[in-house]
Amino acid sequence: QAKDGGRNRTRFFDPQMQELVEVRATLESDLHNALATDQFELHYQLQVNHENKPIGAEALIRWVHPQRGMISPAHFIPVAEESALILNIGDWVLDEACRQIAVWSTNAKMCDLVLAVNISAQQFKQAHFVDQVIAAIHKHGIDPSRLKLELTESVALDDITDVIAKKNLLRQKVGVTLSLDDFGTGFSSLSYLKRLPLDQIKIDQSFVRDITTDKSDAVMVKTIIDMAQNFSLNVIAEGVETEAQLAFLKHHECKAYQGYLFSKPLPIEQFDALMQDYAQHGNITKLV
Ligand code: C2E
Ligand code: MG
Ligand code: MG
Ligand code: MG
Repeated sequence: QAKDGGRNRTRFFDPQMQELVEVRATLESDLHNALATDQFELHYQLQVNHENKPIGAEALIRWVHPQRGMISPAHFIPVAEESALILNIGDWVLDEACRQIAVWSTNAKMCDLVLAVNISAQQFKQAHFVDQVIAAIHKHGIDPSRLKLELTESVALDDITDVIAKKNLLRQKVGVTLSLDDFGTGFSSLSYLKRLPLDQIKIDQSFVRDITTDKSDAVMVKTIIDMAQNFSLNVIAEGVETEAQLAFLKHHECKAYQGYLFSKPLPIEQFDALMQDYAQHGNITKLV
């Protein structure tokens, strides 16, 4: 390291590294500002069952930047995760999701939907995480069984005892469900999976993508579905884009799906309109 002449800032000899550090610092301060000025929104991606009926949605955060437009979570969530910012963002997401569930609960067409929320590692590991979830549920007066928490394998496996303890607290007090996101990309072994108090596993989109062309992906997906059934876990496939993928999944008894074939993640007005259309036509595939 060396000092940047006069300006007294730490500087790296590697200009690329220096640029990265600066971009990251800017992004962090922009994220602080985004929280303070309400620049985040949730988009909702439909989940359907084997009869193409809507069963729920996944809430996916979007950053609507005043200059740069819509920024993907893939860009800012990893940065936020390296600081305490992810906790504030996570609080906001949980509150906003519960608020939306409360709105849906007053509408006969939406009141059965289950909303899945992505929970980051730092957020889940907080000692008061469960209290936070319960507080959000009470604040908005929602039915807890309408809320699903998505954890990734790294979170779930890092401290299984903690996951068990938190799930027990959740179950006793409310009845929120847990889904294991991006399943198959981490290191879950069968023995771990047996100990984890999960309700659902979510097959990662990277396996779904080549399901009809790549033999080993097909075997992988079949094995995951079988295993889920043996453990009495519900299973959902993400990233379903084609009828051929859907046919494969149906044939192998995977009964819930999420992907562009049904709908992209949508701003709330458009998601509501999609549900409205469904109520009229009775089939989601006619809408896309
Ligand atoms: P994820 O939880 O695995 O979400 C699924 C991602 O796949 C979403 O990307 C979604 O838009 C995309 N996707 C859905 N269907 C399809 C499809 O058919 N084909 C393809 N190619 N992609 C599809 P998105 O919205 O960019 O989110 C990326 C990741 O950012 C999420 O992955 C999740 O890990 C994280 N994330 C999103 N929202 C939140 C949040 O509120 N909190 C936290 N902690 N993380 C979030
Ligand atoms: Mg997810
Ligand atoms: Mg996923
Ligand atoms: Mg993912």
